[in-house]
Amino acid sequence: MESDMMTEADMQRLISSLVIHGGIDGDERTGAVSVPIYQTSTYRQKELGINSGYEYSRTGNPTREALELLINELEGGITGLAFASGMAAITAVLMLLKSGDKVIISSNVYGGTFRVLDKIFKNYNIEYEIVDTSNLAEFEKQINPKIKAVLIESPANPLLTITDIKGVSEIAHKHGALVIVDNTFMTPYLQRPLNLGADIVLHSATKYLGGHSDVIAGLVVVKDEGIGERLKFIQNATGGVLSPFDSWLLIRGIKTLTVRMDRHIENARHLVEFLKNHEGVTKIYYPGLPENEGYSVHKQQAFGPGAMISFVLSDEYDIKEFFRSIKVITLGESLGGVESLVSHPASMTHASIPYEVRQKVGIVDNLIRLSVGIEAKETLINDLENAFKKARK
Ligand SMILES: *Cc1c(COP(=O)(O)O)cnc(C)c1O
Repeated sequence: MESDMMTEADMQRLISSLVIHGGIDGDERTGAVSVPIYQTSTYRQKELGINSGYEYSRTGNPTREALELLINELEGGITGLAFASGMAAITAVLMLLKSGDKVIISSNVYGGTFRVLDKIFKNYNIEYEIVDTSNLAEFEKQINPKIKAVLIESPANPLLTITDIKGVSEIAHKHGALVIVDNTFMTPYLQRPLNLGADIVLHSATKYLGGHSDVIAGLVVVKDEGIGERLKFIQNATGGVLSPFDSWLLIRGIKTLTVRMDRHIENARHLVEFLKNHEGVTKIYYPGLPENEGYSVHKQQAFGPGAMISFVLSDEYDIKEFFRSIKVITLGESLGGVESLVSHPASMTHASIPYEVRQKVGIVDNLIRLSVGIEAKETLINDLENAFKKARK
C-alpha cells in the first residue's frame, strides 16, 4: 500500500508490529525469541564449493542480516544494509558516484556529510553544491547534467527545515539524478521516503533507531535491485560493516521504537506548549507548529512532528547560565536517546560554519536545540522553568 493512501493509524499499526516481528523473528533451530548473536568471522564449508550461504562475516553475518531485513521491511524497500556508523553508510552511498559527478546537498545537512564531501570526496573529483532544497524552484534552477544525486534531510538540523521529498524526487528524476534521504530525525515510523519517490533512504541508527545512546550504527535501504547489488558490493569491498553484537543491540532497540517515539512526541508537544508561552523564548522551531514554515508539507509527507525542538532565548536571559542551570536535561551532542539532551548549535554542532553565515541562516548565538527524551514531562518542564529563572538577567 502506498503511504499516501495510508492513514496515520494504519501506519502506526503496520510499523508497531513490524518493529517486533519484521526481519528474522527469533531463531528457527532453537525457538529462541531473540535473534542469536553470531559472533563469528568465518563459517565451516561442507566441501569445496559448498557452503551454508555464509562464507565470511564481512560479506554476510546472520545477526547483521536479521537487522538488514528488518530495516528493509520498515522502510518498504528491496535491500537493506547495515554499516558501522551513519557516516560509513553515507560514505558507502556516495561511493555510487564517479569522478566528475556532482551531488546537491540541502543547506542544513549533517556536518559530517558536508565534511566527507568537502574534505574527502572532493579529492576524487566528486563535487557538491549546497542548495536550499526547501525551495523547489531554487532547487530546479541548480540542476545541470553533472548532478547525479541529491542528498536531503527533512526536517534538517537545527532549524527543522522542511524539504518536499516528493517534489524534489520528481524534479531530480526528470534530470536523471538519484534522490537520497537521510531519515535519521524521523525514522520509518514517522516518514517513509521511498514511498515518496526517493531512491535511497539512510539513517544514523545511533539516534532514534538504537534509541539508548549505546551504539554507533548506520543503515541504508534502497528500492532498486541493481543499486542494492552495487551497494552490497561496496559494503563488502570497503568493509565498513556493523558488528554482530551492535546489530543485535540495534534489533533490540528497534523493538521499542514506536512506544518510545509516541512518548518522545507527547513530551515534545508539552514542551513546545510551555516554551511558546514563555517570555524567555523569542522564536521556536518545531514541525508540529502550524506557524512553522513547511508545516503543511511536513504534515503531508510525515506521520508525526518528531521530538526535536529548537528555540531562541531572549536577550533578557544569560545563555551560559541557562545551560549551567539545566540539570535533568543533559548538555551534549547527539539526539534520539531515551534521555533528554540539550545543545548549543552555534558552538557545538555548527561551530565550523562562519559566524556571518550562521546569522544569515538563523543559527544565532541564542539558539538552543532540544532532543526531547522520554522522562516524565513534568520533570522536564520543571528543569527548564528552573533554568529560565536562574538565567533571567
Ligand atoms: C548523527 C547523524 C549522522 C552521522 O551518524 P553517525 O552514526 O554519528 O556516524 C548523519 N546524519 C544525521 C542526520 C545525524 O544526526
